[in-house]
Amino acid sequence: MLTGDPLFMPVQPTGERISLGDGVRLLAPVIPRSKVIGVGRNYADHAAELGQTVPTTPLLFLKPNTAVIGPDDPIVLPPYSEEVHHEAELAVVIGKITKGVPIERALAQVFGYTAANDVTARDVQRTDGQWTRAKGFDSSCPLGPWIVTDLDTDDLQVTSRVNGQTRQDGRTSELVFDVAHLISFISEVFTLLPGDVILTGTPAGVGPIVHGDVVEVEVEDIGVLRNPVIRRT
Ligand code: ZN
Repeated sequence: MLTGDPLFMPVQPTGERISLGDGVRLLAPVIPRSKVIGVGRNYADHAAELGQTVPTTPLLFLKPNTAVIGPDDPIVLPPYSEEVHHEAELAVVIGKITKGVPIERALAQVFGYTAANDVTARDVQRTDGQWTRAKGFDSSCPLGPWIVTDLDTDDLQVTSRVNGQTRQDGRTSELVFDVAHLISFISEVFTLLPGDVILTGTPAGVGPIVHGDVVEVEVEDIGVLRNPVIRRT
């Protein structure tokens, strides 16, 4: 156990150790104070499966911080969508106020990395013309299971499973724009604040999730983010 908030003050170990298991629930490892920035079509094979080309500059969208849920929290399918997809992604947690950082200094602004599911109402994404309703609804941004602070993200496996069956299996070496490039590009647009999260895009193999499914996102050297899927009737 730790006291404090590692993004804003030193943390102290309390000395108490609690093992993960019955009765212990992990919360989302970070609730962004200001924003989650998503990146569309950042793996060529995923762009192709959507019938799209790879953008020449990173294609950005926002998810509100109310979209964030933690491990084992339910993804609640929005009532206005009949086709909700999982998207397994490496997520970057920003550690410092960042504006206009060059690529070569960008990684020094990172607090750590976690796994994310960029849950997307694919039918609404196609029909709305912009992505706010498709990607911003409550529970559309599972994050976790924790943050790894010292990680080389050049070539990590990114996978998703639905009910134990592998759906996506990619590597961050396939990113069109890598982590340093994304931070630099995004920091030209927005001031990044400690706790802001960047979703780096998803590899091919996205597909539907329905009521009763359990979806897992695994990022190599981070861990498994698992969430049940429900539809409220
Ligand atoms: Zn995505």
